[in-house]
This record gives sequence, C-alpha cells and structure tokens, in this order.
Amino acid sequence: MKFDTIIIGGGLAGLICGIRLQKAGKKCAIVSAGQSAMHFSSGSFELLGRLPDGTETERPLEVLKQLPKEHPYSVIGEETVAEYAAMVPMFLEECGIKVSGSADKNSWRISPTGERKPAWLTLEEFVSLPDKDSKIGNKALIVNILGYLDFNTKFLADSFEKQGTECRIVSLKLDEMERLRKNPSEMRSTNIARVMDREEVWSKAIDQINSMIKDEDAIVLPAVFGLKDSAIIEKIRTRLGVKTYFIATMPPSVPGIRAQMRLKAEFEKCGGYFFLGDTVKGADYNEDGSIRSIETANFGNIRMYADDFVLASGSFFSKGLTATPFGIIEPVFGIDVKAEDSRDNWFDRYFWNKQNYISFGAVAKNGLHASKDGKTVWNLFLAGSIIGGYNALYEGCGGGTAIITALYAADEILKK
Ligand SMILES: Cc1cc2nc3c(=O)[nH]c(=O)nc-3n(C[C@H](O)[C@H](O)[C@H](O)COP(=O)(O)OP(=O)(O)OC[C@H]3O[C@@H](n4cnc5c(N)ncnc54)[C@H](O)[C@@H]3O)c2cc1C
Repeated sequence: MKFDTIIIGGGLAGLICGIRLQKAGKKCAIVSAGQSAMHFSSGSFELLGRLPDGTETERPLEVLKQLPKEHPYSVIGEETVAEYAAMVPMFLEECGIKVSGSADKNSWRISPTGERKPAWLTLEEFVSLPDKDSKIGNKALIVNILGYLDFNTKFLADSFEKQGTECRIVSLKLDEMERLRKNPSEMRSTNIARVMDREEVWSKAIDQINSMIKDEDAIVLPAVFGLKDSAIIEKIRTRLGVKTYFIATMPPSVPGIRAQMRLKAEFEKCGGYFFLGDTVKGADYNEDGSIRSIETANFGNIRMYADDFVLASGSFFSKGLTATPFGIIEPVFGIDVKAEDSRDNWFDRYFWNKQNYISFGAVAKNGLHASKDGKTVWNLFLAGSIIGGYNALYEGCGGGTAIITALYAADEILKK
C-alpha cells in the first residue's frame, strides 16, 4: 500500500494534520491503535496558562518568547504560533466543530470539580467565563440524573457558592434511564448520552427541569447531551430559557468524543483512509536514514509505504512513549527521546504537584523533524503530545500544542 503521507495516531494531532494534508490534495492514511485523549477532554483546548516556572499568564501570545528553546512553540517560532492560533477557530468550524474563545486572552472553564482553569477555545455547549472569579448567576439550579455518580454536584455547588451563587441541587428521574440504573457501571456518560439523544427523552428531561425552576437565573447540567448531534444543545437552551451551563463530567467525555468523531468524519470525507484498531509495530529505513515503510499488527507482511510519515502517537497515556527498566523509549521508530536520567526526578509523590514525566518526549528538531541517534530523520515529522520539552498539564497547553504542531507539520510536508 502506498500513500503520500502516513500518520501514526488518530487523536487530535493526527486528525488535524491529516485533514490539512488531505484538503491540500495529499493521499493520507491514519493508523490508530485506539482511543485518544479526546475521550477525556474537558471541553476546552488550552493554549498556555502558565510558564514552566509557574508564572500564570492570561495572555498566552505575549509570553511565548519566555518559553524554553525546546518547547514546541519555540521550535515553531512565536509569530508562526500566533498565526496558526488565529486560524484554528475557522479550521475547526469547517470541520463542524464550533468553538468560542480567543488566543489574545484566556477565558476560564469550569472543571468537573468546580475549579476554574484557563481555556483558549471552548466547545459550543460549554460557557467559558471571562474572569477566574466570574459568577455564573445569583441562583443556580444544579441538575443531575438520578444514580449518575460521575457528576459531582456537591463539589460544583461548593465552588459556585464561593463566588456568591446560591445553589440548589435536584435530580431528574427518567423511566428511560432505569435499565441503566439497575447496573451502576452502566450509568456512564456515553450510555446516558445515547439514551438522551432520543428526542422524546431529552424533551421529557427539559419538561422536568422547567417544572423544578423557581427563581434561578442559571441552570447547571452534566455534558451528556448531543453525542451524535450538537444541535440538541441549542434546542435545550431555548426550551429552558435560562442561562444554561453544561459542565464536563468525569470521563468519558461526550463532547470530546463527538469532536473526535467529527474530525474523523471530516478526514474521511476529504478522502483520507483511517485504519482504526491497528498498531504500527516498526519500520524499515532507506540508506540515508529516512523511513521507507511501516509494518502494522493487522496488515502483517503487507507493508505501508509513504513519502512522509507523521508520528502523532501521544504520550505515555496512549503508549506513544513507554517506560522500560532502561529508560523512556519511543517504541515504533526508536527515535531520540528527552527524559530525566534519574528516576527520582520522574515524578512527585504528591499527585497534584508538577509531574516531570509529562514533559518527557521525542526530541523535535527544526521543522518538527524527529531525530534518531542524533541524526535528523528527514521524512518523519512529530505532532502533538509525543513531543517532549513541555509539560502540557502544568503549563495548560495540551490542546494548543497538539493542534498547532499538527498544522505546522502538515505545512512543512506541503512545502517540500
Ligand atoms: C486524560 C487526558 C485529558 C486531557 N484533556 C485535555 C483537555 O481537556 N484540554 C487540552 O487542551 N488538553 C488536554 N489534554 C492534553 C492532550 O494531550 C492534548 O490535548 C491532545 O488531545 C493530545 O493529542 P495527541 O493526538 O497528541 O495524542 P493522543 O490523543 O494521546 O492520541 C494518540 C493516538 O495515537 C495512537 N497510537 C499510539 N501508539 C500507536 C501505534 N504504535 N500505532 C498506532 N496508533 C498508535 C493512540 O491509540 C491514540 O489514538 C489531555 C491529556 C490527557 C492524557
């Protein structure tokens, strides 16, 4: 099988890169082993919330210069990052994903535990707040679904009350959910969303909420609506007639999965080939060290050839990186990885502290090329969280680096 470009990994970075290339006329394949971080998405993409030294920033573009040279934004260059950041909302909209927010100033998303986190672009059903301390309203009705444990109404109420919002917590009881409720492990966001997608069910839920509203000026709901079609969200808002906040639940993330499905559909609509559930096992190389072909678990002896390859296999979470007794490795190509030598520095025993292992990853040369044994691999590009040199969680820049490196890698290939 021969393609112009083969992308390893079909998460946010792989899909964005594939769509960009496919729209520019390249014949692309994405090989993806499994689910991606999008299935755990908070509903917002982050551009940059904090510098590596802990300094918080509200205006990400103004501090890009202060990032270390190995940070992917520095490898790309701050002006180019700003250009890409400005075009991303339109790019996503063309893929059917509506977002709000701007790269000029972070807004604030509400986490499942009620914390405020900096956000760049927020998916349409979520409302991001202009300031960290913004109130969602004077009185909020927090609505859960009876028996659903992944939406922590008490945490949310405690957090909203700190900003002076009086909260009342209620539960919806829907006959249609009873089959799920018999087995608590079935009461998961995606299962609920599948039932809620039926008009007669969400409509009944809205009737119940309307009958519960007293003098509240804000309604808070778990983000379990519109798995297939986000049009439901607007209909719900109109029917409720009160400002409605959909809050991310504990994973899996219904809006994240919907966004991933949209990107995959867009890639395939443009003619791309998506091989889901297949794992790239290894590669063979040309004499100059560039990659000739890859081998996958499902295709076995049938090798996949391409002019260019993009590695978007994610970090440890997606097995793009592996920790072995001898160190951190990138398992497909064995490319150069930057990590701390001493295991004592890999992690902090206090879970919420900065975890160094998150910044481990592939060394990105100029042009986001990978390197192997110190030599640049000219036809292997890096995109997304496989790249090292930044701590997506601590710096709050996971979505931004994934999208921007993906677009940049695609454009580097198109320039060739
Ligand atoms: C749990 C979690 C939640 C996050 N939430 C947010 C958030 O809300 N907002 C935000 O801005 N950032 C978030 N991030 C940061 C996140 O890393 C990025 O936002 C982004 O989604 C990463 O995309 P990616 O495509 O680089 O990697 P991933 O999403 O990890 O995708 C990598 C893909 O590669 C596949 N793969 C791996 N190895 C192989 C192989 N050998 N062969 C074939 N396929 C392979 C995997 O199966 C996976 O599908 C989160 C990260 C995690 C881990």
